[in-house]
Amino acid sequence: MRAIVYHGPEDVQVESVPDPDPAGVDGAVVRVQRAGICGSDLHIYHGHGFSPDPGYVVGHEAVGEVVEVGSGVRRFRVGDRVLVAASSGCAHCAECRRGRIARCEVAGFGCYGLGHDLPGSQAEAVGVPSADTGLWKLPDSISDEQAILLTDNLPTAYFGVRRSGIEPGDSVAVIGLGPVGLCAVDSARALGAARIYAIDLVESRRKHAEALGAEPIDAADPVEEVMARTGGRGVDRVIEAVGADATIELALSLARIEGSVSVVGVSQNTRFDFNMALAQVRSLSFHIGLCSVQVELPALVPLVEAGRLDPARTISHRMGLGEGAEAYRLFASREDDVRKVILDPAH
Ligand code: NAD
Ligand code: ZN
Repeated sequence: MRAIVYHGPEDVQVESVPDPDPAGVDGAVVRVQRAGICGSDLHIYHGHGFSPDPGYVVGHEAVGEVVEVGSGVRRFRVGDRVLVAASSGCAHCAECRRGRIARCEVAGFGCYGLGHDLPGSQAEAVGVPSADTGLWKLPDSISDEQAILLTDNLPTAYFGVRRSGIEPGDSVAVIGLGPVGLCAVDSARALGAARIYAIDLVESRRKHAEALGAEPIDAADPVEEVMARTGGRGVDRVIEAVGADATIELALSLARIEGSVSVVGVSQNTRFDFNMALAQVRSLSFHIGLCSVQVELPALVPLVEAGRLDPARTISHRMGLGEGAEAYRLFASREDDVRKVILDPAH
């Protein structure tokens, strides 16, 4: 089959790789109908991935049809239309049984396309090791494009906003307006935010956040601007969806006394310079984590079905899998008003 393979910084190629297999009795194979490119794939693309060994298939956002199931799979059959949740766990350990798939004791942080262990889904097909946990059956009322956003970006954003402890009437700042940040704007609104301040360096992304009901803040001096709009107090909740030291620092300086910061941007810094004294004086709460997609779906699927959340609005480009290298280049460039890129493996 064809798949997008990571070879090194700024070098991904579409090439022929072996077909996946169900990887044991609990596994399944899904023929991919749509795949998404995520900001997390950009960390890999720029050479900051987790695996030291290039040559693996990338991608962790896929929607498709089950074409093969192991004998132990109980909830899925060949022909089912499913989304493949980005987080993958063994399903049997103590953490998985509590729903904390992203903390699986066996798989660690199990996610497709981060290395050779679990090949990615920017491909014609993907193997899903624990199908009963890793797949979600899609109702007809959810489109493929909505489902792609439900595999990772929307659950991650919703998880971040939920963990911030948001309450109706709160003011919220969202830093980083890629697909995750835009979904965070949407989620904050759905969870009752009164005012949402949207911060990004890219003007077209700020404009898109504005169309979703946020107030765009020019990132040139966001602290001064947010303070001016909040009577000098800062906001109740800050959602960080970039993962850079500078934006995590910015998040900490935007939160009001007793406010909270919730980071979902992926950080690889092992020594962040944290102003503990200031956080203590301001009684700040700080949350950071990786999303277990399966935990968020029971709330999000009905919200999307009812039209309360429409994450597919973040999609800006639809391309063929064969254009994978160009799709990565475009998404990384943030040119051409690119927000979310969806790939069709049939082309
Ligand atoms: P993206 O790269 O499309 O978006 C990042 C945005 O941040 C861009 O719009 C960029 O312009 C903006 N940005 C960069 N530096 C900035 C700065 N100094 N000030 C303001 N804005 C700045 O990525 P995405 O798909 O939206 O993902 C966002 C982050 O979420 C990534 O770090 C990704 O790895 C992470 N993520 C985390 C999880 C999780 O489980 N925690 C899951 C999926 C994605
Ligand atoms: Zn992702």
